[in-house]
Amino acid sequence: MNNKLQQCPICSLENQKILAERDHGDKVTYDCLRCGRYTIPQAAETIAKQKEKSAELSGWLRERNLLGIEIPMLTPSFLEDVIKKPTQL
Ligand SMILES: [Zn+2]
Repeated sequence: MNNKLQQCPICSLENQKILAERDHGDKVTYDCLRCGRYTIPQAAETIAKQKEKSAELSGWLRERNLLGIEIPMLTPSFLEDVIKKPTQL
């Protein structure tokens, strides 16, 4: 199919699949080899890229994907929460 490829905004892995785009591309669902599947709005991508917690975020996402736990929309405030307390939730 016509899969788009883009750098993962969480772990910076190149050429990761985009599964879906909503709201005119504002909310993008990625399928990253490292992080798994997640949906992130553009406002939160900026935060994910700026933080030096990307390894923790990536691990947090991967863990939930492996366990089959549904990952909520990664809004800016949600990301801040995960970054503050990565071992909880
Ligand atoms: Zn990733």
